[in-house]
Amino acid sequence: MTALKTALYLHIPFCLQRCTYCDFNTYDGLLDHRSAYVTALRREIHHRAALYPEIEATTLYFGGGTPSLLLPEWIATLIADVRRHFRLVPEAEVTLEANPGTVDVASLSALRAAGVNRLRESKAKSRVVVQSLRMGGAFGGKEVQANAFADALKGLKK
Ligand code: SF4
Repeated sequence: MTALKTALYLHIPFCLQRCTYCDFNTYDGLLDHRSAYVTALRREIHHRAALYPEIEATTLYFGGGTPSLLLPEWIATLIADVRRHFRLVPEAEVTLEANPGTVDVASLSALRAAGVNRLRESKAKSRVVVQSLRMGGAFGGKEVQANAFADALKGLKK
């Protein structure tokens, strides 16, 4: 079977509050449903992968909404599921949209450890140019990685 190389997108529809200019499919006031949503998403990943066994994921993108409202362990579980069921390639770019107000150094470090290697600011969607930062493998310890993420977010806020 020839592999069909594909980019995967996981939609995380939760936001702390709705922005008036935003027309994405997102909701506020539903944070209590995050765990159930992750469970449903895991089921969907398993189901879809069985339907499309030829797919090999080359990138994974968590968009929203505000994906950084999910706990890092949930993100880690979803990445592991995609890695297993869609054969996410080891060098894959894994992007997570993050609102700086929803992350701190500890959560960013946990996200990095979970496999997230690229951040994108979720509130920057309305801008024509969206800045991003690729996280390569050149960082040493976790603290350095976390600082790099924090620096990245500072840069994104400009
Ligand atoms: S702009 Fe971002 S934070 Fe605001 S409602 Fe849309 S997705 Fe949510």
